[in-house]
Amino acid sequence: MAEEFNFPIDLAQKCVKCGLCKSVCPTYPFREEEGAFARGRLALAEMVVKGELPLTKEVVAQWNECAMCRRCEWICPNDVQYKEILTKAREIQHKELGEDFISKAGLKSLELMQSKVGRVALKVAGILSKPLPKEIKVPLPTGGVKFFPKPYGKPFEIRGKTFKAQNEKKKLLFFTGCMIDVFYGNTGKSVIKVLNKLGYTVIVPKDIKCCGAPHLYHGNHEAFETLREHNVKEIEKYEFDAIVVACPTCGGALVEDYGKNWKVYSFTELLSDERIKFKGQGERVTVHVPCHFYTAMKRNPNLFYKTLEKVENAEVVKAEKAQSCCGFAGLFSIKNPELSTEIQREKMLDFKKTKADYIVTECPGCVLQLRDGAKKFKNKQEVKHIADYLAERL
Ligand code: SF4
Ligand code: SF4
Repeated sequence: MAEEFNFPIDLAQKCVKCGLCKSVCPTYPFREEEGAFARGRLALAEMVVKGELPLTKEVVAQWNECAMCRRCEWICPNDVQYKEILTKAREIQHKELGEDFISKAGLKSLELMQSKVGRVALKVAGILSKPLPKEIKVPLPTGGVKFFPKPYGKPFEIRGKTFKAQNEKKKLLFFTGCMIDVFYGNTGKSVIKVLNKLGYTVIVPKDIKCCGAPHLYHGNHEAFETLREHNVKEIEKYEFDAIVVACPTCGGALVEDYGKNWKVYSFTELLSDERIKFKGQGERVTVHVPCHFYTAMKRNPNLFYKTLEKVENAEVVKAEKAQSCCGFAGLFSIKNPELSTEIQREKMLDFKKTKADYIVTECPGCVLQLRDGAKKFKNKQEVKHIADYLAERL
Protein backbone atom coordinates (compact mmCIF):
# COMPACT_ATOMS: atom_id res chain seq x y z
CA MET A 1 0.00 0.00 0.00
CA ALA A 2 2.90 2.36 0.76
CA GLU A 3 4.14 2.22 -2.85
CA GLU A 4 0.69 2.21 -4.42
CA PHE A 5 -0.17 5.49 -2.71
CA ASN A 6 3.33 6.95 -2.64
CA PHE A 7 3.14 7.05 1.15
CA PRO A 8 6.26 8.69 2.68
CA ILE A 9 7.11 5.82 5.00
CA ASP A 10 10.66 7.11 5.48
CA LEU A 11 9.27 10.32 6.95
CA ALA A 12 6.98 8.42 9.33
CA GLN A 13 9.93 6.31 10.48
CA LYS A 14 11.76 9.45 11.63
CA CYS A 15 9.49 9.49 14.68
CA VAL A 16 11.57 8.36 17.68
CA LYS A 17 8.45 8.01 19.87
CA CYS A 18 9.70 10.60 22.40
CA GLY A 19 6.14 11.78 23.05
CA LEU A 20 6.96 15.48 23.16
CA CYS A 21 4.09 16.17 20.75
CA LYS A 22 1.64 14.97 23.41
CA SER A 23 2.33 18.13 25.44
CA VAL A 24 1.07 20.48 22.71
CA CYS A 25 -1.68 18.48 21.00
CA PRO A 26 -5.07 20.16 21.60
CA THR A 27 -6.99 16.90 21.26
CA TYR A 28 -4.97 14.69 23.62
CA PRO A 29 -6.17 16.14 26.98
CA PHE A 30 -9.78 15.27 26.09
CA ARG A 31 -9.11 11.70 24.96
CA GLU A 32 -5.98 10.67 26.84
CA GLU A 33 -5.19 7.77 24.55
CA GLU A 34 -2.25 6.99 22.31
CA GLY A 35 -4.22 7.47 19.09
CA ALA A 36 -5.24 11.00 20.09
CA PHE A 37 -1.93 12.74 19.37
CA ALA A 38 0.70 12.71 16.64
CA ARG A 39 2.83 9.75 17.80
CA GLY A 40 -0.15 7.40 17.83
CA ARG A 41 -1.71 8.81 14.66
CA LEU A 42 1.57 8.33 12.82
CA ALA A 43 2.04 4.80 14.17
CA LEU A 44 -1.45 3.87 12.97
CA ALA A 45 -0.67 5.22 9.51
CA GLU A 46 2.57 3.27 9.33
CA MET A 47 0.91 0.04 10.45
CA VAL A 48 -1.93 0.44 7.95
CA VAL A 49 0.33 1.03 4.95
CA LYS A 50 2.58 -1.86 5.96
CA GLY A 51 -0.49 -4.11 6.09
CA GLU A 52 -0.07 -4.80 9.82
CA LEU A 53 -3.43 -3.28 10.70
CA PRO A 54 -6.68 -3.16 8.70
CA LEU A 55 -8.02 0.29 7.82
CA THR A 56 -11.00 0.30 10.16
CA LYS A 57 -13.45 2.96 11.26
CA GLU A 58 -11.66 3.06 14.62
CA VAL A 59 -8.37 3.95 12.92
CA VAL A 60 -9.85 6.70 10.78
CA ALA A 61 -11.72 8.11 13.78
CA GLN A 62 -8.31 8.92 15.30
CA TRP A 63 -7.21 10.67 12.11
CA ASN A 64 -10.50 12.54 11.80
CA GLU A 65 -10.09 13.90 15.32
CA CYS A 66 -6.85 15.63 14.35
CA ALA A 67 -7.27 19.40 13.96
CA MET A 68 -4.22 19.64 11.67
CA CYS A 69 -2.98 22.55 13.76
CA ARG A 70 0.53 21.12 13.27
CA ARG A 71 1.72 22.09 16.71
CA CYS A 72 3.19 18.56 16.91
CA GLU A 73 5.35 19.30 13.88
CA TRP A 74 6.39 22.64 15.34
CA ILE A 75 7.64 21.08 18.60
CA CYS A 76 9.03 17.82 17.17
CA PRO A 77 12.78 17.56 17.82
CA ASN A 78 13.18 15.10 14.98
CA ASP A 79 11.67 17.09 12.14
CA VAL A 80 8.85 14.60 11.59
CA GLN A 81 6.77 16.09 8.77
CA TYR A 82 3.37 15.31 10.18
CA LYS A 83 1.38 17.12 7.48
CA GLU A 84 3.02 15.19 4.63
CA ILE A 85 2.28 11.89 6.35
CA LEU A 86 -1.24 12.51 7.63
CA THR A 87 -2.51 14.04 4.40
CA LYS A 88 -1.34 10.89 2.59
CA ALA A 89 -2.98 8.69 5.23
CA ARG A 90 -6.22 10.62 4.74
CA GLU A 91 -5.97 10.24 0.97
CA ILE A 92 -5.73 6.47 1.42
CA GLN A 93 -8.66 6.60 3.86
CA HIS A 94 -10.90 8.41 1.37
CA LYS A 95 -9.92 6.25 -1.59
CA GLU A 96 -10.44 3.01 0.34
CA LEU A 97 -13.46 3.88 2.50
CA GLY A 98 -15.01 6.88 0.74
CA GLU A 99 -15.57 10.37 2.08
CA ASP A 100 -18.18 11.48 4.57
CA PHE A 101 -20.93 13.82 3.39
CA ILE A 102 -19.82 16.85 5.45
CA SER A 103 -16.29 16.80 4.04
CA LYS A 104 -17.51 16.31 0.48
CA ALA A 105 -20.10 19.08 0.70
CA GLY A 106 -17.81 21.47 2.60
CA LEU A 107 -14.86 21.14 0.26
CA LYS A 108 -17.01 21.27 -2.87
CA SER A 109 -18.68 24.47 -1.70
CA LEU A 110 -15.25 26.06 -1.16
CA GLU A 111 -14.39 25.19 -4.76
CA LEU A 112 -17.69 26.47 -6.14
CA MET A 113 -18.18 29.64 -4.11
CA GLN A 114 -15.71 31.53 -6.30
CA SER A 115 -17.28 30.39 -9.57
CA LYS A 116 -19.58 32.79 -11.48
CA VAL A 117 -22.69 31.04 -10.20
CA GLY A 118 -21.29 30.86 -6.67
CA ARG A 119 -20.58 34.57 -6.61
CA VAL A 120 -24.09 35.43 -7.75
CA ALA A 121 -25.60 33.04 -5.17
CA LEU A 122 -23.53 34.61 -2.40
CA LYS A 123 -24.56 38.10 -3.46
CA VAL A 124 -28.21 37.08 -3.22
CA ALA A 125 -27.55 35.46 0.17
CA GLY A 126 -25.88 38.69 1.32
CA ILE A 127 -28.95 40.73 0.35
CA LEU A 128 -31.47 38.29 1.83
CA SER A 129 -29.63 38.02 5.14
CA LYS A 130 -29.46 41.79 5.68
CA PRO A 131 -32.21 41.82 8.34
CA LEU A 132 -30.53 39.00 10.30
CA PRO A 133 -28.26 39.66 13.30
CA LYS A 134 -24.48 39.70 12.77
CA GLU A 135 -24.12 36.13 14.01
CA ILE A 136 -26.64 33.39 13.26
CA LYS A 137 -27.16 30.36 15.49
CA VAL A 138 -26.99 27.28 13.26
CA PRO A 139 -27.74 23.71 14.39
CA LEU A 140 -24.94 21.40 13.27
CA PRO A 141 -25.75 18.10 11.51
CA THR A 142 -23.37 16.43 13.96
CA GLY A 143 -25.09 17.83 17.04
CA GLY A 144 -24.91 21.07 18.97
CA VAL A 145 -25.08 24.59 17.56
CA LYS A 146 -22.60 27.11 16.26
CA PHE A 147 -22.81 30.85 15.73
CA PHE A 148 -21.81 31.66 12.16
CA PRO A 149 -21.40 35.16 10.73
CA LYS A 150 -24.10 36.11 8.26
CA PRO A 151 -22.87 36.47 4.66
CA TYR A 152 -21.24 39.82 3.92
CA GLY A 153 -23.65 42.14 2.11
CA LYS A 154 -21.26 42.78 -0.79
CA PRO A 155 -19.17 39.62 -1.22
CA PHE A 156 -16.08 39.90 -3.44
CA GLU A 157 -16.49 43.68 -3.28
CA ILE A 158 -12.76 44.41 -3.43
CA ARG A 159 -11.91 41.85 -6.11
CA GLY A 160 -10.32 42.95 -9.36
CA LYS A 161 -9.42 46.39 -8.00
CA THR A 162 -6.20 48.23 -7.27
CA PHE A 163 -6.10 50.49 -4.24
CA LYS A 164 -3.34 52.99 -4.89
CA ALA A 165 -1.33 54.46 -2.05
CA GLN A 166 -0.22 58.07 -2.07
CA ASN A 167 3.59 58.07 -2.27
CA GLU A 168 3.63 54.40 -3.16
CA LYS A 169 6.63 52.53 -1.78
CA LYS A 170 5.66 48.99 -2.82
CA LYS A 171 2.93 47.03 -4.55
CA LEU A 172 1.35 44.21 -2.60
CA LEU A 173 -0.97 41.54 -3.97
CA PHE A 174 -3.63 40.77 -1.37
CA PHE A 175 -4.65 37.10 -1.31
CA THR A 176 -7.98 37.67 0.41
CA GLY A 177 -9.07 34.08 1.17
CA CYS A 178 -12.63 32.71 1.14
CA MET A 179 -13.75 33.86 4.57
CA ILE A 180 -12.82 37.50 4.01
CA ASP A 181 -14.51 37.46 0.59
CA VAL A 182 -17.71 35.93 1.87
CA PHE A 183 -18.13 36.75 5.57
CA TYR A 184 -15.66 39.38 6.67
CA GLY A 185 -15.59 41.92 3.82
CA ASN A 186 -14.92 44.75 6.26
CA THR A 187 -11.72 43.04 7.37
CA GLY A 188 -10.53 43.06 3.76
CA LYS A 189 -11.19 46.80 3.64
CA SER A 190 -9.34 47.29 6.94
CA VAL A 191 -6.27 45.51 5.57
CA ILE A 192 -6.29 47.86 2.57
CA LYS A 193 -6.87 50.98 4.67
CA VAL A 194 -3.88 50.31 6.93
CA LEU A 195 -1.57 49.23 4.11
CA ASN A 196 -2.48 52.23 1.95
CA LYS A 197 -1.69 54.52 4.88
CA LEU A 198 1.76 52.92 5.06
CA GLY A 199 2.41 53.57 1.37
CA TYR A 200 1.56 50.14 -0.01
CA THR A 201 -0.56 49.97 -3.12
CA VAL A 202 -2.84 46.95 -2.75
CA ILE A 203 -3.82 44.85 -5.75
CA VAL A 204 -6.70 42.41 -5.24
CA PRO A 205 -6.78 39.79 -8.02
CA LYS A 206 -10.07 39.29 -9.76
CA ASP A 207 -10.22 35.55 -9.94
CA ILE A 208 -8.29 33.78 -7.20
CA LYS A 209 -10.12 30.80 -5.72
CA CYS A 210 -9.81 29.01 -2.40
CA CYS A 211 -6.10 28.53 -1.56
CA GLY A 212 -6.76 24.78 -1.41
CA ALA A 213 -5.34 24.26 2.08
CA PRO A 214 -8.61 22.73 3.38
CA HIS A 215 -8.49 20.21 0.52
CA LEU A 216 -4.84 19.43 1.07
CA TYR A 217 -5.22 18.95 4.83
CA HIS A 218 -8.15 16.70 4.12
CA GLY A 219 -6.01 14.52 1.85
CA ASN A 220 -7.61 15.62 -1.41
CA HIS A 221 -4.39 16.28 -3.29
CA GLU A 222 -6.09 16.38 -6.69
CA ALA A 223 -8.48 19.20 -5.77
CA PHE A 224 -5.62 21.09 -4.15
CA GLU A 225 -3.54 20.80 -7.31
CA THR A 226 -6.39 22.12 -9.49
CA LEU A 227 -6.88 25.13 -7.20
CA ARG A 228 -3.13 25.75 -6.94
CA GLU A 229 -2.70 25.75 -10.73
CA HIS A 230 -5.63 28.12 -11.18
CA ASN A 231 -4.36 30.53 -8.53
CA VAL A 232 -0.78 30.53 -9.78
CA LYS A 233 -2.00 31.46 -13.28
CA GLU A 234 -4.17 34.25 -11.90
CA ILE A 235 -1.52 35.66 -9.54
CA GLU A 236 1.11 35.68 -12.27
CA LYS A 237 -1.04 38.05 -14.35
CA TYR A 238 -0.16 40.85 -11.92
CA GLU A 239 3.01 42.76 -11.15
CA PHE A 240 3.74 43.03 -7.45
CA ASP A 241 6.61 43.12 -4.96
CA ALA A 242 5.14 40.70 -2.42
CA ILE A 243 1.93 38.95 -1.39
CA VAL A 244 0.09 39.83 1.81
CA VAL A 245 -2.38 37.56 3.59
CA ALA A 246 -4.68 38.12 6.54
CA CYS A 247 -5.27 34.38 7.06
CA PRO A 248 -2.25 32.24 8.00
CA THR A 249 -3.77 29.07 6.58
CA CYS A 250 -3.81 30.66 3.10
CA GLY A 251 -0.36 32.06 3.88
CA GLY A 252 0.95 28.64 4.85
CA ALA A 253 -0.27 27.12 1.59
CA LEU A 254 1.34 29.92 -0.45
CA VAL A 255 4.63 29.60 1.43
CA GLU A 256 4.90 25.81 1.61
CA ASP A 257 2.83 24.24 -1.12
CA TYR A 258 2.65 26.54 -4.15
CA GLY A 259 6.25 25.87 -5.26
CA LYS A 260 6.84 29.55 -6.00
CA ASN A 261 9.48 31.93 -4.72
CA TRP A 262 7.02 34.65 -3.86
CA LYS A 263 7.70 36.78 -0.83
CA VAL A 264 4.64 36.24 1.38
CA TYR A 265 3.89 38.41 4.41
CA SER A 266 1.25 38.05 7.01
CA PHE A 267 -0.48 41.38 7.74
CA THR A 268 0.77 41.36 11.36
CA GLU A 269 4.30 40.52 10.31
CA LEU A 270 4.36 43.33 7.79
CA LEU A 271 3.09 45.84 10.35
CA SER A 272 5.61 44.77 12.97
CA ASP A 273 8.46 46.45 11.10
CA GLU A 274 6.63 49.67 10.21
CA ARG A 275 6.97 53.06 11.87
CA ILE A 276 3.37 53.91 12.60
CA LYS A 277 1.30 54.79 15.65
CA PHE A 278 -2.30 53.85 16.36
CA LYS A 279 -4.56 55.63 18.82
CA GLY A 280 -5.82 53.30 21.53
CA GLN A 281 -8.79 54.20 23.71
CA GLY A 282 -7.43 53.06 27.07
CA GLU A 283 -8.42 49.44 26.41
CA ARG A 284 -6.86 46.16 27.51
CA VAL A 285 -6.02 43.81 24.64
CA THR A 286 -5.04 40.18 24.50
CA VAL A 287 -3.91 38.02 21.59
CA HIS A 288 -4.83 34.66 20.10
CA VAL A 289 -1.92 33.51 17.92
CA PRO A 290 -3.36 31.26 15.16
CA CYS A 291 -1.57 27.89 15.02
CA HIS A 292 -0.82 28.15 11.30
CA PHE A 293 0.87 31.52 11.88
CA TYR A 294 3.81 29.77 13.55
CA THR A 295 3.43 26.20 12.26
CA ALA A 296 2.57 26.55 8.55
CA MET A 297 3.87 30.10 7.92
CA LYS A 298 6.63 29.62 10.51
CA ARG A 299 6.39 33.20 11.80
CA ASN A 300 7.39 34.24 15.29
CA PRO A 301 4.33 34.63 17.58
CA ASN A 302 6.04 37.62 19.22
CA LEU A 303 5.35 39.62 16.06
CA PHE A 304 1.79 40.12 17.36
CA TYR A 305 3.12 41.86 20.45
CA LYS A 306 5.64 43.88 18.42
CA THR A 307 2.80 45.14 16.22
CA LEU A 308 0.54 45.93 19.16
CA GLU A 309 3.32 48.02 20.77
CA LYS A 310 2.45 50.59 18.13
CA VAL A 311 -0.92 51.21 19.73
CA GLU A 312 -0.67 54.10 22.16
CA ASN A 313 -2.92 54.23 25.19
CA ALA A 314 -3.70 50.48 25.18
CA GLU A 315 -2.46 47.80 27.54
CA VAL A 316 -1.49 44.48 25.99
CA VAL A 317 -1.90 41.54 28.34
CA LYS A 318 -0.55 38.12 27.40
CA ALA A 319 -2.92 35.19 27.86
CA GLU A 320 -1.33 32.08 29.34
CA LYS A 321 -2.62 29.98 26.43
CA ALA A 322 -2.28 32.64 23.72
CA GLN A 323 -0.69 30.11 21.36
CA SER A 324 -2.95 27.15 22.00
CA CYS A 325 -5.40 25.99 19.33
CA CYS A 326 -8.89 27.57 19.36
CA GLY A 327 -10.53 24.35 18.15
CA PHE A 328 -11.87 25.68 14.84
CA ALA A 329 -9.74 24.04 12.16
CA GLY A 330 -12.43 24.41 9.48
CA LEU A 331 -14.44 21.24 8.99
CA PHE A 332 -12.90 19.74 12.14
CA SER A 333 -15.19 21.89 14.29
CA ILE A 334 -18.26 20.74 12.38
CA LYS A 335 -17.29 17.08 12.27
CA ASN A 336 -16.16 16.97 15.92
CA PRO A 337 -18.40 19.50 17.68
CA GLU A 338 -17.85 18.17 21.21
CA LEU A 339 -14.10 18.03 20.95
CA SER A 340 -13.97 21.42 19.26
CA THR A 341 -16.12 22.94 22.03
CA GLU A 342 -13.93 21.42 24.77
CA ILE A 343 -10.85 23.01 23.21
CA GLN A 344 -12.75 26.27 22.78
CA ARG A 345 -13.89 26.25 26.42
CA GLU A 346 -10.26 26.11 27.68
CA LYS A 347 -9.38 29.01 25.44
CA MET A 348 -12.29 31.20 26.50
CA LEU A 349 -11.67 30.55 30.22
CA ASP A 350 -8.05 31.51 29.75
CA PHE A 351 -9.04 34.74 28.00
CA LYS A 352 -11.47 35.60 30.79
CA LYS A 353 -8.55 35.56 33.24
CA THR A 354 -6.78 38.32 31.30
CA LYS A 355 -9.70 40.72 31.92
CA ALA A 356 -8.98 42.12 28.45
CA ASP A 357 -11.61 44.14 26.58
CA TYR A 358 -10.51 42.81 23.20
CA ILE A 359 -9.17 39.52 21.87
CA VAL A 360 -7.30 40.10 18.62
CA THR A 361 -6.07 37.55 16.13
CA GLU A 362 -5.20 37.32 12.45
CA CYS A 363 -7.21 34.38 11.17
CA PRO A 364 -10.85 34.81 10.04
CA GLY A 365 -11.55 31.18 11.05
CA CYS A 366 -10.24 31.85 14.57
CA VAL A 367 -12.39 35.03 14.69
CA LEU A 368 -15.46 32.88 13.92
CA GLN A 369 -14.57 30.29 16.55
CA LEU A 370 -13.70 32.81 19.27
CA ARG A 371 -16.86 34.85 18.68
CA ASP A 372 -18.86 31.64 18.88
CA GLY A 373 -16.95 30.80 22.08
CA ALA A 374 -17.54 34.26 23.56
CA LYS A 375 -21.28 33.72 23.13
CA LYS A 376 -21.28 30.16 24.45
CA PHE A 377 -19.08 30.80 27.46
CA LYS A 378 -20.34 34.30 28.19
CA ASN A 379 -17.07 36.15 27.66
CA LYS A 380 -17.85 39.83 27.44
CA GLN A 381 -14.67 40.35 25.43
CA GLU A 382 -14.93 41.57 21.86
CA VAL A 383 -13.13 39.41 19.30
CA LYS A 384 -11.52 41.28 16.42
CA HIS A 385 -9.30 40.57 13.48
CA ILE A 386 -6.13 42.58 14.13
CA ALA A 387 -6.63 44.48 10.84
CA ASP A 388 -10.02 45.74 12.03
CA TYR A 389 -8.69 46.61 15.47
CA LEU A 390 -5.82 48.65 14.00
CA ALA A 391 -7.84 50.27 11.20
CA GLU A 392 -10.29 51.61 13.77
CA ARG A 393 -7.36 53.24 15.59
CA LEU A 394 -5.59 54.87 12.65
S1 SF4 B 1 7.64 14.77 18.96
FE1 SF4 B 1 8.17 14.00 16.92
S2 SF4 B 1 9.60 12.30 17.29
FE2 SF4 B 1 8.58 12.74 19.24
S3 SF4 B 1 6.83 11.31 19.28
FE3 SF4 B 1 6.07 13.24 18.44
S4 SF4 B 1 6.28 13.01 16.21
FE4 SF4 B 1 7.54 11.41 17.16
S1 SF4 C 1 -1.88 18.40 14.06
FE1 SF4 C 1 -2.56 19.26 16.04
S2 SF4 C 1 -4.34 17.99 16.62
FE2 SF4 C 1 -3.22 16.86 15.01
S3 SF4 C 1 -1.82 15.49 16.13
FE3 SF4 C 1 -0.67 17.39 15.66
S4 SF4 C 1 -0.92 18.67 17.48
FE4 SF4 C 1 -2.50 17.06 17.58
